[in-house]
Amino acid sequence: MSYTFHEATIVKIVQETDIVKRFFIQMPDTLNFTFTAGQFIMINLPIASKYTNRSYSIASAPSDDNIFELCIVLKPTGLGTPYTWENFEVGTKVQASLALGKFIKRIWSLISPRPLFNKREVLSRRSRRLKIAQHLSAGY
Ligand SMILES: Cc1cc2nc3c(=O)[nH]c(=O)nc-3n(C[C@H](O)[C@H](O)[C@H](O)COP(=O)(O)OP(=O)(O)OC[C@H]3O[C@@H](n4cnc5c(N)ncnc54)[C@H](O)[C@@H]3O)c2cc1C
Repeated sequence: MSYTFHEATIVKIVQETDIVKRFFIQMPDTLNFTFTAGQFIMINLPIASKYTNRSYSIASAPSDDNIFELCIVLKPTGLGTPYTWENFEVGTKVQASLALGKFIKRIWSLISPRPLFNKREVLSRRSRRLKIAQHLSAGY
């Protein structure tokens, strides 16, 4: 599958531990960049590999400044994360996709904020399935 990448800029890096870094990345102003909890970004890296894209969950809350955060764990034996460790600095241009992924609010609403099942309710497997189907078809 091919993705469209946009030239984003690293605006801040926080090293949390030896193997965890938080990267704050800004999409171009010209882009209407939006995302919702649960989505991820695909980063295209100039690495010598058949697969150059890597996915990273968006770790920040939606904001209107086109900036999102990725929290990346170093895989010393990998190709992508050692590249980001050695080459990503404030000001580095990064090829980033728009927000991707469909495991978002609609699915989360099954567990929060309104519980789907009453704690005391004892339901058969069939009734539970029916209740989930009704919940989804109601547009949550
Ligand atoms: C939806 C999604 C969200 C994600 N979100 C995050 C996130 O928020 N933060 C995060 O840190 N990661 C996240 N990941 C994982 C991330 O995409 C990368 O897989 C991860 O960073 C490792 O990438 P890498 O390029 O360093 O390692 P890779 O080069 O992909 O290698 C990964 C592992 O496979 C081994 N390997 C590679 N090639 C071979 C081979 N030919 N034979 C045997 N072994 C091999 C490597 O030794 C290494 O241990 C997410 C993945 C998905 C799918």
